[in-house]
Amino acid sequence: LAVATARTSGRARATVWTPALGQAGIRRERLRQDVAGAAARGELWLAFQPIVSMEEQRITGVEALLRWRHPELGEVPPREFVPIAERAGAIAELQRWALHEATAAVAGLPAPTGVPLRLGVNISAAHIAARTLVDDVVTALSASGLTPERLVLEITEAAVPSDGDPATGGVAAGDMAALRLMGVHVALDDFGTGSSSLADLTRLPIDVLKLDHAFVSRVDRDRHSRALCESVVTIGRALGVDVVAEGVETPAQLGVLRGMGMGFAQGFLLSRPLPLAELVQVLEDDAGTLWPGLVGRSVAP
Ligand code: C2E
Ligand code: MG
Ligand code: MG
Ligand code: MG
Repeated sequence: LAVATARTSGRARATVWTPALGQAGIRRERLRQDVAGAAARGELWLAFQPIVSMEEQRITGVEALLRWRHPELGEVPPREFVPIAERAGAIAELQRWALHEATAAVAGLPAPTGVPLRLGVNISAAHIAARTLVDDVVTALSASGLTPERLVLEITEAAVPSDGDPATGGVAAGDMAALRLMGVHVALDDFGTGSSSLADLTRLPIDVLKLDHAFVSRVDRDRHSRALCESVVTIGRALGVDVVAEGVETPAQLGVLRGMGMGFAQGFLLSRPLPLAELVQVLEDDAGTLWPGLVGRSVAP
């Protein structure tokens, strides 16, 4: 009975589970208090993970991944602080910083295939709803000189605004449409884990599909995952959108994905997310070749 009470009542829970939950609660509260000023205090940094073209076996893009080095708590992962920032109303501020820094960093990078690198930036639903996204993107593009076509806004299925949403959907969908009219690309991130139906896909305003790690991780061992990946490749081709396999970790996965005609791959096998200086080195040293077996050098830790 004590346990049942603890699970349903916040107050009872605090008395029963004090040690563990207390620690987590204190940490969460601390992060909540500190997250708003993190950009201004210089605690944020970006890691860049290469995205490789299967056909060219070279880097054709990078994804910017936000990092927060808290002065006392150390590195805090985005899966922990992004939801906290969303609830604290600070996500647009963090995102503005990320857009500004990422576009400035990538604008002048070497282009291994001759085509300028694309830059993926993750955008949360809360930022789209806050209605500053168009301004924030325009500001970052004009400050950096990055052309709109090189920017890919990565949003998850849950964050795709639909015209049907009576609250903010129509307006937010208008913002996304305005960005696409400017030439900015939109990627559907973590595809396959959300709630969109396949029919929705034909109506969504997207240019890139990022197939979730969950399917990629089993593609060489499980025929259901394999069938799913294959059908996403087919859908991508039919809709004229690029498909990126996320979380490629083994040569076997890469081989199977390449065999089925997957367009692009991203994952620890090819490269971990890198600090900018290391990314620049990879682009210069190997002319952007990141392909196991083709390059002698080991992939960054
Ligand atoms: P995501 O957008 O799906 O980013 C890919 C995540 O997968 C990254 O985690 C990356 O480090 C990780 N990853 C890449 N390759 C592999 C692999 O081979 N195996 C495994 N197990 N993982 C791999 P990270 O950097 O911790 O980011 C987690 C999530 O946090 C991101 O997922 C994204 O949803 C969110 N996030 C990151 N940066 C931002 C940002 O600037 N704004 C917002 N709103 N969200 C962000
Ligand atoms: Mg992403
Ligand atoms: Mg993803
Ligand atoms: Mg994912």
